[in-house]
Amino acid sequence: MLPVDATLADLLQEPERKPRLLVVDDQPTNIQVLYRVFADDCQVFMATSGTQALHTARQEAPDVILLDVMMPDMDGYEVCRQLKQDSRTRDIPVLFVTAHHEAQEETRGLEMGAVDFITKPINPAVVRARVRTHLTLKRQTDVLKHLVFIDALTHTFNRRYFDERLGEEWGRAQRTGKPLSLLFADVDFFKQYNDVYGHQRGDDALSQVAHALKQAALRPGDVVCRYGGEEFACLLPDTDLDGALQVAQRMKKAVRALGMAHAASHVAGVLTISAGVAVRTPTSTGDANALVALADAQLYRAKTQGRAQACAAVLD
Ligand code: GH3
Ligand code: MG
Ligand code: MG
Repeated sequence: MLPVDATLADLLQEPERKPRLLVVDDQPTNIQVLYRVFADDCQVFMATSGTQALHTARQEAPDVILLDVMMPDMDGYEVCRQLKQDSRTRDIPVLFVTAHHEAQEETRGLEMGAVDFITKPINPAVVRARVRTHLTLKRQTDVLKHLVFIDALTHTFNRRYFDERLGEEWGRAQRTGKPLSLLFADVDFFKQYNDVYGHQRGDDALSQVAHALKQAALRPGDVVCRYGGEEFACLLPDTDLDGALQVAQRMKKAVRALGMAHAASHVAGVLTISAGVAVRTPTSTGDANALVALADAQLYRAKTQGRAQACAAVLD
């Protein structure tokens, strides 16, 4: 997944960071061979089964995966298929490592989304060169994605990312039958904040609010995006009404706890947010747009009822 917490400057300086390489092979001796090739230049993670590979890929976010084709239980093709299905691991380049090199096999791997094939026995110079190429491409892709999907002021995902991710999470919730919550958080009386403290302090406040919201969204699957202006949209997969309201309360508290003086606020002496929550349950018949409209309506309700509070509803 896109490293949202890395700044663009971090990404551009990445050549100074050791690349992360995941080597997957059911034979530890094969892993050792590749480990020796890359130990000096890369941080090497290892997995001896498909299940372990998927887990490590999600956990460690490697830059490249070297994947054995022939493994008991789950073969390399299946591992690759599952990597490509998960937005957290989809963009990691996969290079298959195989003893039997046939055109048919290679085609199958490439069609599954692998970027290259390497044959055993390993030629260290060739493997090193190929991996280096894919690391460079990966780095360039990361920079590009950062530019496209990350909001420069708050270092959260932006509206474009939200729109893409909403569709994805909606589809996943439909398939799995799990709930999906959408939370809108909007800063209260923010126009007045700018009027009193100036636009620059306003920008700084928005960055701090974004940071507080991210801290309050605890699960790895939670996504905080800047929806526009001083409004943030949070996607909370596998989260029901109670859970989403808990997140909303945590966010409200976290923003208040920043203790940013707001003399012109009509609800508190400090900066506060209002939140609107909408939940898709397995029986909901509306679509993703209806979820957005409902969350927006709940936010409106929170505002009209006095602000600095959260309102929630379940999608029909
Ligand atoms: P409410 O409590 O009803 O949400 O009132 P509000 O003033 O927060 O909402 P309104 O939508 O009237 O105004 C939003 C203000 O947010 C307008 C603008 O001054 C400010 N704003 C939006 N984007 C930015 C930004 O990037 N930086 C700064 N400093 N201010 C912004
Ligand atoms: Mg506002
Ligand atoms: Mg607003």
